[in-house]
Amino acid sequence: MNLKTGDNVTITSGRDRGKKGKILQVFPTKALVVVDGVNERTRHIRSRRSNDKGQKISFFAPLHASNVMLTCEKCGKPRRAKSVVASDGKKQRVCAKCQTPFTV
Ligand SMILES: [Zn+2]
Repeated sequence: MNLKTGDNVTITSGRDRGKKGKILQVFPTKALVVVDGVNERTRHIRSRRSNDKGQKISFFAPLHASNVMLTCEKCGKPRRAKSVVASDGKKQRVCAKCQTPFTV
């Protein structure tokens, strides 16, 4: 998985296909990511006491990393990431099309 918190991604499948958002949380061992504004779910909470009201809580559920793609800022489109070694010897993720580095 080549995604980090703060990455701008585009959703490539499912109900929210085409939506863009920022990664809020990653679960590397499960290959899941939480994207801002994507995969919204509602949790319904029943009242516990008679005078209490039930509640609806909406939250963004995690989705699989294979269903998102990094968004290239220059191309403005979802692009594959290529790993290259920068001049300082560190690995860097770049856009496979225009070679612009993905910044976090
Ligand atoms: Zn690009």
